[in-house]
Amino acid sequence: MIIDGKKLSGELIEEIKKEVLNLKKDGKLIGLSVILIGEYPPSLIYVKNKEKRAKEAGINSEIIKYSADITENEVLSKIKELNKNREVSGILVQLPLPNHINKEKIINAIDPLKDVDGFHPINVGNLASGNSSIVPCTPLGCLHLIKSVETNLSGKHAVILGRSNLNGKPMAQLLLKENCTVTIAHSKTIDLKSECKKADILVAAVGAKELVKGDWIKKGAIVIDVGINKINDKIVGDVEFNATKELAKAITPVPGGVGPMTIACLLKNTLECFKKTNL
Ligand code: NAP
Repeated sequence: MIIDGKKLSGELIEEIKKEVLNLKKDGKLIGLSVILIGEYPPSLIYVKNKEKRAKEAGINSEIIKYSADITENEVLSKIKELNKNREVSGILVQLPLPNHINKEKIINAIDPLKDVDGFHPINVGNLASGNSSIVPCTPLGCLHLIKSVETNLSGKHAVILGRSNLNGKPMAQLLLKENCTVTIAHSKTIDLKSECKKADILVAAVGAKELVKGDWIKKGAIVIDVGINKINDKIVGDVEFNATKELAKAITPVPGGVGPMTIACLLKNTLECFKKTNL
């Protein structure tokens, strides 16, 4: 089975849209402010896509664009202003940032209740403690994709490749919460193949083209490929798709798997943030 991220994300956006429209009938406004610094081409594409989908869901979306030489203090004072603005439910600062801007300072300045990316230490801590929190969009989307195949994950062995704050670590927390037995592998893991072969659920979030081979897959596994890698003009994932799809019970394609679901989860988080501050 190929997990259709486009279809599933479309369904999720429809659900969000219904809720947003109902809130609008009561005079409530849901707003997402995205700060974009510089001209990094992938960021320009991501931000445009996020704005398009937000509008589709009835969410007011604004892109605040700065040139790459903006000072850190100017960005921090904009974030303070957005934190206070009642029409702004969610704030996202598109990463990566120019070198002279401290990422940690920027993330820490965002009101945790408006932190749609789930990167603020308070949200990270709440997730790690098993409390209610805003969860980073990509792992949240991956969980949604996994659950589209199997709802009860209890007792499954999940193997996550990658330990970034963006993907691997929050993915592990989410799957622990689902009562999986979780292994996190990374660049220093000795035998990646044998770790992968134990996985009922395999999430690859590395950024290494087709690192995971077909014979690394346990028969019947659910395989989620987060990686985005370019081979000439072609985008491929971290998993050898054709060889893997024969053995896996379900697999996400790249593109068309995790990517669209990440954006849908951003909208879900924006709505969550609105509810946390307004309802
Ligand atoms: P990252 O911060 O660079 O982290 C990569 C992780 O992979 C690190 O933990 C690293 O280990 C590990 N790693 C690197 N090479 C490895 C190897 N040969 N074997 C095992 N582990 C290895 O990357 P990220 O931000 O998590 O992103 C990962 C990928 O997901 C990228 O391709 C990115 O473009 C993609 N992505 C996709 C979406 C989406 O919506 N589809 C969203 C975000 C990111 P160490 O910690 O030991 O260095």
